[in-house]
Amino acid sequence: MYQETAGSGGEARMNKKCGKCGTTLEQFYHTSLLGCENCYRVFAAELEAVLLKLHGKTVHTGKTPKIGDIERQLLFEYETLLEEKESAMLRGEFDEANALGGQIRQLYLELSRRGLK
Ligand SMILES: [Zn+2]
Repeated sequence: MYQETAGSGGEARMNKKCGKCGTTLEQFYHTSLLGCENCYRVFAAELEAVLLKLHGKTVHTGKTPKIGDIERQLLFEYETLLEEKESAMLRGEFDEANALGGQIRQLYLELSRRGLK
């Protein structure tokens, strides 16, 4: 049986967008961040998939690249915040999740400046 994955359906999904803050699914996949509480509803299915993936990735393999203490600390904080945000979302505390999202965004920018994300 052939699997015909026509591009159109996938593209339509990637163009999925939060009507409130304008965050797109593509942005979400890129940053793992959502803009507002409406996003959690719009991207509920995708969010779940990403959270599952996150869980699998938080285990350290011991093959960490050579990075400095500051970078390590930033990465640690980033992952900690992601987990905190995740548990806030699971508790339905979107305000807290949003606040954490802001911190995560800052850390993400810092990490990407250092070439770590
Ligand atoms: Zn939104």
